[in-house]
Amino acid sequence: MTVDVLVIGGGNAALCAALMAREAGASVLLLEAAPREWRGGNSGHTRNLRCMHDAPQDVLTDAYPEEEFWQDLLKVTGGQTDEALARLTIRASSHCRDWMRRHGVHFQPSLSGTLHLSRTNAFFMGGGKALVNAYYRSAEQLGVQIRYNAPVDRLELTDGQFVAAYVGDERITAKTCVLAAGGFESNREWLREAWGQNARGEWPSDNFAIRGTRFNQGVLLKQLMESGADMIGDPTQAHMVAIDARAPLYDGGICTRIDCVSLGVVVNREGRRFYDEGEDFWPKRYAIWGRLVAQQPGQVGYSIIDAKAAGRFMPPVFPGTRADTLPELAQKLGLDVPTFMQTLNDYNAACRVGTFDHTVLDDCHTEQLLPAKTHWARPVDKGPFYGYALKPGVTFTYLGLKTDETTAVRFGGVASSNLFVAGEMMAGNVLGKGYTAGVGMSIGTAFGRIAGVQSAQAAMKSGVHHAAA
Ligand SMILES: Cc1cc2nc3c(=O)[nH]c(=O)nc-3n(C[C@H](O)[C@H](O)[C@H](O)COP(=O)(O)OP(=O)(O)OC[C@H]3O[C@@H](n4cnc5c(N)ncnc54)[C@H](O)[C@@H]3O)c2cc1C
Repeated sequence: MTVDVLVIGGGNAALCAALMAREAGASVLLLEAAPREWRGGNSGHTRNLRCMHDAPQDVLTDAYPEEEFWQDLLKVTGGQTDEALARLTIRASSHCRDWMRRHGVHFQPSLSGTLHLSRTNAFFMGGGKALVNAYYRSAEQLGVQIRYNAPVDRLELTDGQFVAAYVGDERITAKTCVLAAGGFESNREWLREAWGQNARGEWPSDNFAIRGTRFNQGVLLKQLMESGADMIGDPTQAHMVAIDARAPLYDGGICTRIDCVSLGVVVNREGRRFYDEGEDFWPKRYAIWGRLVAQQPGQVGYSIIDAKAAGRFMPPVFPGTRADTLPELAQKLGLDVPTFMQTLNDYNAACRVGTFDHTVLDDCHTEQLLPAKTHWARPVDKGPFYGYALKPGVTFTYLGLKTDETTAVRFGGVASSNLFVAGEMMAGNVLGKGYTAGVGMSIGTAFGRIAGVQSAQAAMKSGVHHAAA
């Protein structure tokens, strides 16, 4: 059986592509590696997408104009972004939501404690899982064929053109194909290869948790790389945050976040501080702590707070280690008590407390302390005390396929006429490094929708059109 468009992947980008291709009149088959109950990839863990808007719009407050969105992207990526594709993403984010609503996605105002995003990010009612479920429902109603437990092992390509995909021994042909199978963050062997061994002889990535799906193994990314497809991005670049060290290996999602770093101090396994906990607002610094913890011995850190921090951050799912005194806390966390106490005493003595205000970059700072804490520095001295062990949590990797505004996969600079890409598999074109909340879904929605139209048009152009089942 041959269809017009084969979509590989089952998350946001794949679903956007499948829906658009079907709406354009193509017959569509979607192959999702996961079983039905785990469908949706990392998209199922999301909560919002970043949207440009020039005036207040239903759940979005004020305005978030194109130029501001662009400057935000430019800043977080340090210029490692393709301006044309970034602006395409930004503009698409301003008009995609009516289409999303038509497919059953609803929005709600931002929740309290959500990194102050009410102006820039539209939240999905019921989260990413509800979005994914709505898209699957709509796709089924429109006649998109969906297969679960269908991991594509390899593609058959001739001169940069898609011929067929293999699920085990089964050969599946289609006129065109959209790749939307995510990054390679779930592939521990590849992470090991990318991160290598450090000077302490450790393999840091062995201690990383994967915040999302276990199914993004990067199998097709690797095959395409080996087949000479044009690539973009660095395999060690990934969105990585510091999460609760008790998080599961996969699919811990957002509830493993530990949001109190800026309210106290963070020490490593040796009981020493290693970075300015008050450098910037938590949303802006959120994604650097995964990497910072990854550089520490054992890839572990401990966020330490006192009673003054209670109620000022979103409480983690599991309670922290609690103690009435600091030495007792150190002992319970398995840290060397004298070193820990020296660190805390030095920090407490260096605090110059002005007017504490967690909503601005306040004037509470340390003096003559290395590393400094430049804002929100207050002594950690009022029991009970709490400690949370942290480890790096990988959200997604940035290595991807180079593309352009048509979403075509390219080989030696030449665009394939029937192989397209969307979502994490190409997000590196827009996001070479860094991150700004909600842009992953903006990229996947923009390019998924384009890939759907392009793949349908290419299929229709190529001759006989196969009616949907
Ligand atoms: C905990 C968490 C929270 C996040 N929160 C947000 C947020 O609020 N806003 C935001 O914008 N971004 C967020 N992100 C990032 C966001 O999830 C991604 O940017 C986005 O989901 C990528 O969509 P995608 O369709 O490319 O990939 P995915 O949603 O990961 O989908 C990839 C799909 O491909 C399938 N697949 C993989 N390999 C194969 C194969 N060989 N054959 C067939 N199928 C295959 C997988 O099973 C999966 O269904 C978050 C990520 C995580 C982990």
